[in-house]
Amino acid sequence: MIESLEKIKKSISKVILFGAGDLGKLAFYALKKNNIKVDFFCDSNEKKHNKDYLGVKIISPKELSLLEKDAHIFMCNSQYIEVVSNLLKKLEFSNIYDLVNLLKNTDFSDCNLDQNLFSPPSIERQIALHEQNCLKANRNIHKKLYVSNIDIVITERCSLKCRDCSNLMQYYHRPQNAEHETLFKATDKLMKCIDNLYEFRILGGDPFMNKKMYEVVNKVVEYKNVEQIVVYTNATILPKDENFKCLKNKKVRLHITNYGLMSRKHDELVNLCQKNKIKFVSERVKKWQDVGTINFEKKTEEQLENLFKNCCANNLLTLFDGKLYRCPTAAHGVKLKAIPEDLNDIVELGSSKLDLKQLKDKIKEFYYNKKFISACSYCKGRDYGFGEIDAAIQTKKPLTFPNSIEKN
Ligand code: SF4
Ligand code: SF4
Repeated sequence: MIESLEKIKKSISKVILFGAGDLGKLAFYALKKNNIKVDFFCDSNEKKHNKDYLGVKIISPKELSLLEKDAHIFMCNSQYIEVVSNLLKKLEFSNIYDLVNLLKNTDFSDCNLDQNLFSPPSIERQIALHEQNCLKANRNIHKKLYVSNIDIVITERCSLKCRDCSNLMQYYHRPQNAEHETLFKATDKLMKCIDNLYEFRILGGDPFMNKKMYEVVNKVVEYKNVEQIVVYTNATILPKDENFKCLKNKKVRLHITNYGLMSRKHDELVNLCQKNKIKFVSERVKKWQDVGTINFEKKTEEQLENLFKNCCANNLLTLFDGKLYRCPTAAHGVKLKAIPEDLNDIVELGSSKLDLKQLKDKIKEFYYNKKFISACSYCKGRDYGFGEIDAAIQTKKPLTFPNSIEKN
């Protein structure tokens, strides 16, 4: 990268950051520190086109295609690395870079960045996820199974009842905690197949609703091939006893989603973490994308492929009831009987009769080669094209789906 930076500095070709978001911002400051001027941001989100980001114009991929092919383009995203890299190659650009070394070698402490989004642990995590997704995109150069993140659903119970919860918690009428014995059988098998996992994400609902959450955390920290465990909470419950103690493990990090007044224990939780040296990130969230509900819509194969390719949840492997799903919508949609079960889109773990090699091959195929899953027919996807809604609007009672699957 250092050599490339020198080459870019001497070159008269344009410099473009593909992705006008958080990683784009980090890349902008990192290049600035290396005295490299950014000519354009490029972004697929139409709403950003012709606007400025950090004083730099945002162009569309179509405008990008008109630029000289020796332009230097940095891929500034995580979820869409493969899509962007394929697009840039198709457009015949040859100077394409990821951000891994650039960001790892930059000290951002004097960049005056918003600490809500860019605290040192947040930056470290963003870089690591970007690196994992670059590895995934380059999978053909190695035979290993590297996975960036796997969600473990340890409870369907939540202390809030958000009308627009994208994980569908608002539809559970009798939410339950996960059966830990089934879960552990599944994680043992899974971790024998995976070469490296960057993070397990412990979620619900709210994981603190499960009083035995610590059993899961204490189990998964022991896998040597897992780098970190992130526990997600909405800051309505202060963890106690063993659930509190397990957060002190150096591999564990708490991710606090702060919904303002709704997150009534936020300040106390932050103090508790600071006092006890628990690693945490607190993210203030005011808006969500409107992802709608589950509803069957007939789509062509091409439409399904595009929906899946552009969906930011398509990489959120989800472990639920001893099975691996491709995304949380598929996992919960099937459990709630709003989406029919498709065995081609599920990897059975705990009860699988496959030997480890066969199981590893199946997970690789599932993780690397899926073009879409049948659940996408029931889903709007999570693209940038949707409107924004206020986050965490509450419903008093659990909701029901507009259509049952029997109708389709
Ligand atoms: S806090 Fe809201 S968005 Fe988060 S899991 Fe609970 S219901 Fe869903
Ligand atoms: S079902 Fe398909 S489109 Fe919907 S969230 Fe999952 S991967 Fe994305």
